Amino acid sequence: MPGAMVITFLGTSSGGGPSESRNCSSLVCDILGNGSLWMVDCAEGTLRQFAFQPKGQIQLKANRVTKIFITHMHADHIMGIVPLLRGVLFPPSTDSTTIKHSEKPPRVEIYGPSGIRNFVRQVMKMTLTNTSDTYTIHELLTPDDPSLPCLSPAGIKIHSTDPNVMHISEVAGSDIRCADDGFWRGLTESKGAYGRIFVDAGPISHRDPCIGYIFREDSWPLRKLVILGDTSNASTIAPLCLSPSPSLLVHESTDAHIPRNVDPKANRSLQVVLDKTLSRGHSIPTMAGTFAKAVGAERLVLNHISGRFPAPRNHQDHRTAIIHEIEKQATEAWNSSKSAIVAWDFMRIEIPAIMTTNLNTSDSSALSTDNTDVGSTTTQMIPLSYSDPAEGSPHAGMREFDPKTKKRRR
Ligand SMILES: [Zn+2]
Ligand SMILES: [Zn+2]
Repeated sequence: MPGAMVITFLGTSSGGGPSESRNCSSLVCDILGNGSLWMVDCAEGTLRQFAFQPKGQIQLKANRVTKIFITHMHADHIMGIVPLLRGVLFPPSTDSTTIKHSEKPPRVEIYGPSGIRNFVRQVMKMTLTNTSDTYTIHELLTPDDPSLPCLSPAGIKIHSTDPNVMHISEVAGSDIRCADDGFWRGLTESKGAYGRIFVDAGPISHRDPCIGYIFREDSWPLRKLVILGDTSNASTIAPLCLSPSPSLLVHESTDAHIPRNVDPKANRSLQVVLDKTLSRGHSIPTMAGTFAKAVGAERLVLNHISGRFPAPRNHQDHRTAIIHEIEKQATEAWNSSKSAIVAWDFMRIEIPAIMTTNLNTSDSSALSTDNTDVGSTTTQMIPLSYSDPAEGSPHAGMREFDPKTKKRRR
């Protein structure tokens, strides 16, 4: 659909992963409606996930990634950045060990917390990475965060380990300080399909500094995506999530209490699960649902799922009932007529510009199976598909499921 914002989850596992059915955190969104991709987090293996996209689904290309937004510095959110850059910035035409710093505008812009510039810069240097295109890193800094200089590498060996000297492929980025209220408003903007797209960010509570991102249109149809990093309390970012409310909220739900009648093997009490989850800076489904209710989210997707809860293999799989239970707990706390959805790798959600109650799914995609009116936005789902590496080649074991009925499609 022209102008639709389409989000694709590339990795939905918590930091305990990757697992058999989930890679660690990454998602991409065609937020401008022009085929370019903005990425949120980039776990190890993210580049490979592009190659593992299910057959029959639109095949996203890693080289369409133009911006990457990093929520925090934990390894399960950043270890795929350098491999991705190596893949999309292309090797240089001639081998060189001395500087020929490019004047080209950066092909990829990265936004993230203090430390992300040094991390990418040093790993690029230490892995002797050399590319023809360039990247830049803008850091979202608090008043206490230090600024890492961007000294030109001209005339210096590319292997310089001075952290203040940029990598040969790096273009000097910005230091973006938060406002007095702690928020980064309008940290970047671009022309979207119906107006301008602004990006805001704010801190959320995790065991280390963490950021949530808001992507919003400044004019009709005022779609707004709120994508949070790991958190045990996102209330600090709530002011950015109101007026209008999010068309879609992506909130982590790392762990969950599963009752015995759903999983006979479950042996942890709600209090044990809650205490452990909070101690690690994470959330359970009711916490995600409560936040969704507080900000009036129109759609809620649960992400960053523990390895305890793999994606279902088929509709008879006991995993299906467990995933339903997690969705039920979040939905009840959300108190919405719609259902929260536990994300799976390669799940796609489409938010069209116009309200559509009966999307015709016979054209583009025979893949579309669930079109749910969600008020000012419509979320379109495609079947769950994932391949099981244990079954051999990436697509050999592909199984497709209808996310609504949970029935196997073939
Ligand atoms: Zn994480
Ligand atoms: Zn984390």
